[in-house]
Amino acid sequence: MTDQTATIGDKKISIHPGETILQASRRAGFDIPTLCYHADLSPEGGCRVCLVETDARGRIQAACHTPLQPGMEIQTSSPRLESLRRNILTLYVSAHPPNTFRPSSVGTEIERLMHRLGIPAYAPGHTGKSVPVDESHPYLRFQRSLCINCRRCLHACEEIQGQFVYGLEGRGSSTHLIFGPSERFADSPCVSCGSCVDHCPTGAISDIDRIGAHAPDAVVQSTCGYCGVGCQLDVEVSDSRIARIRGTSEAEVNHGHLCVKGRYAHAFHHSGDRLTAPLLRTGDSWREVAWPEAISWLSRRLLELRDRFGPDSLGVFTSSRSTNEAAYLLQKLFRTRIGTNNVDCCARVCHSSTALALQTVTGTGAATASYADIPLTGVIVLAGANATEAHPVVGARIKQAALSGSALIVIDPRRIELAEFASVHLRPRPGTNVPLFNAIAKVLVESGQIDEAYVESRTEGFAELSNFLGALSLAQIEKITGVDRKEITAAAALLAKNRPALFVSGLGLSELTQGTASVMALCNLGMLTGSIGKPGAGMLPLRGQNNVQGNADMGGMPNQVTGYQSLTDPDVRARLEQIWGIAPPREAGLTISEMIDAAAKGKIKALWMQGEDVAQSDPNQTHVIEALKTLELLVVQEMFMSETARFAHLVLPAAGSLEQEGTFTNGERRIQLVRSAVQAPAGARADWEVIRDVANAMGAQWTHETPSDVMDEIAWVAPKLFGGVSYARLKPNGLQWPCPTADHPGTATVHAQGFLRGKGKLVALEYVPSPEHTQDGYPFLLITGRALEHYNVGTMTRRTPNRSLLPADFVEIHRDDAARLNIMDGQTVQIQSQWGSTRAPARVSERVSPGTLFLTFHFPETHTNVLTSPYVDPQSKCPEYKVTAVAISPLPEEAA
Ligand code: SF4
Repeated sequence: MTDQTATIGDKKISIHPGETILQASRRAGFDIPTLCYHADLSPEGGCRVCLVETDARGRIQAACHTPLQPGMEIQTSSPRLESLRRNILTLYVSAHPPNTFRPSSVGTEIERLMHRLGIPAYAPGHTGKSVPVDESHPYLRFQRSLCINCRRCLHACEEIQGQFVYGLEGRGSSTHLIFGPSERFADSPCVSCGSCVDHCPTGAISDIDRIGAHAPDAVVQSTCGYCGVGCQLDVEVSDSRIARIRGTSEAEVNHGHLCVKGRYAHAFHHSGDRLTAPLLRTGDSWREVAWPEAISWLSRRLLELRDRFGPDSLGVFTSSRSTNEAAYLLQKLFRTRIGTNNVDCCARVCHSSTALALQTVTGTGAATASYADIPLTGVIVLAGANATEAHPVVGARIKQAALSGSALIVIDPRRIELAEFASVHLRPRPGTNVPLFNAIAKVLVESGQIDEAYVESRTEGFAELSNFLGALSLAQIEKITGVDRKEITAAAALLAKNRPALFVSGLGLSELTQGTASVMALCNLGMLTGSIGKPGAGMLPLRGQNNVQGNADMGGMPNQVTGYQSLTDPDVRARLEQIWGIAPPREAGLTISEMIDAAAKGKIKALWMQGEDVAQSDPNQTHVIEALKTLELLVVQEMFMSETARFAHLVLPAAGSLEQEGTFTNGERRIQLVRSAVQAPAGARADWEVIRDVANAMGAQWTHETPSDVMDEIAWVAPKLFGGVSYARLKPNGLQWPCPTADHPGTATVHAQGFLRGKGKLVALEYVPSPEHTQDGYPFLLITGRALEHYNVGTMTRRTPNRSLLPADFVEIHRDDAARLNIMDGQTVQIQSQWGSTRAPARVSERVSPGTLFLTFHFPETHTNVLTSPYVDPQSKCPEYKVTAVAISPLPEEAA
């Protein structure tokens, strides 16, 4: 057997397959200088600064892209190598105007390298030309005079974001960087993830607001407060303000990558219109009151209404924006001090169908897989999720998986960005997921392409499902869904060939009257292909809000208490009685939409809304506003005066996510620390603290002094899921539940040892059409959803420069429909449903199919949800945001 070692300097080291000389040298402790190389990116091999001698005769090779071979004798440093490196770097420096780069131990990467190699600032051969700086983009700046054409930005853009913005044009000394077909950043396809900034070694591409900024006073690691991906942030603080945010490179969730929201949209924290004192309504006006008065008034009022109208006349919407600790304490307050289970959260209006479906068929209502499974899988099914806009860091990872050879099946009525990378794109009519998934299952079963051993050993219900599928007609399904059977067969074949599969789903499945059935039908495919409970496979619903998973976990549900425990289980009740001093009522409470309906009927008298802007976000907005107006007491905890807060009797100013301590739980069940990077404005307080104080003013004796104390109680209350969770264990990458004991490592793949409910349940699912269908006067089907630049109702992103990236909502219409209706791109149009009407500028494109429209909901002036219907999924009570029959017409310029 040949010797599998090489010599580097004076050390003999073993060969690791695929390792380059540079990687092996770093492993062995040799620090070879580099310029165009970055460990995150594939080697460019262009600058030659990393030259090493690779044999006894002094053969020179670039270390960054030369594999280490057995028997090599590497010298990483010698007078000859140092001289070569100095000459190379001098050539780079001398091609730039004088003093462009100055040697410095604390400057940019190229300046640090000059310092190390002893290269002076001034070098002969410079041109002295001045080159204009591109500051067209709100966040990014390009200073061409600093660019050395090292292509690190290009690699970062392609290999991390998958965006392909950059290119090089010209030859020889006139080679220069370009932004795709455009001249300026602002006109380029850049999605502002900032990866290029982090990888540029010269500062040619930089954050526009950091020019000339001094080093931060502190860097605090925390968790992004936008979407449920849960990216880890390094928050740089200067002069008590957030100066810049970068991704935490060691974070398992995001590996240093962020999106335009997490990285750049933080200015809202310091917005001048933050709420800074409790506001108490007196008639039509507000009065600022001190916190002790607000807390005492609120506690008295809650008790008064409870005693007058009964506990079930009060209810609470716990917040998916706030921390686990705040959500836990608020549901505990209502269950113990008021005595009602009228507790719900916004998971109801997004993924309640997903949670119910997963709980029914697998035994646990959350993702079975992790983001780390994305690069491991052979095939990804992306269903009803526009990941690159709504969950951009996960979207970029899916794109990278597809670029690296994973098969990608996109199921979405719109031609979303990831459809460009898909092997198959199925475009069902909105609301027809169930028959489409049934059709794929039918093809798999009837062509013998299922994982028989898995189905036999790990599932139940196959015979019934198989009989049901046998009776379905593909011709009929083609008619219902609008998807050609050849495409259905192609998707089934891809799944079968590359199984097990990773099923990534979104609100396009759950926010339907058949939401629960849609997710169950997707789970059928998961089980038929043997995918659930294996690494690199499983069900991965993308959770919308930063802590929507945690909010439901904490007990923000009317029918289950913390940790999805039954309200009637005697053991659970005994434990709650021991810890809480009182067990909650046994009967399930009302859901969000039921509480709104009950308020409209005068049965609910008081609602506490923690960070929920229901007047803008919930469907059938006119009805919601009427219900809010009837309340005797509406309490709102908010950072800003929201649309809902305008109807409140008491508004409590809240701290933002980077102004408080606590935890969020992301979409892969990972509980992560949230840390206070800056102080909340004077007068705004962390939600958990306010809730504790109100409970104590109502007679409780809660002694939690920190959020960590609250987490210890959560672990005690729900030991099966959280028994091993404590703050001390959450650094640096959090813990994925279930984590039942202090020595349990957390769970990346759920159901690996068998389904938590015993056997996975296959379900025969009939198609039930939505009550919303095209009809006379309403010939289009409307889908609502998000755009990349804004977050939900835009409360935070509208108060940042993201507003200049997307200044208004828009409605997408297919170009054939636009031509037929004389609608021009950018023209304001009227959209009308039987529930209400609004207007928005049209975007003419082919992203939507003919007969379908797509409208965003980020701006209060659009009030998109006046259009959506009151229909809900009868099982989960999740509203149907994804199908509304509407009409659209152009508005004359004078009326727009
Ligand atoms: Fe934040 Fe989501 Fe963007 Fe990550 S992907 S930075 S969690 S908004």
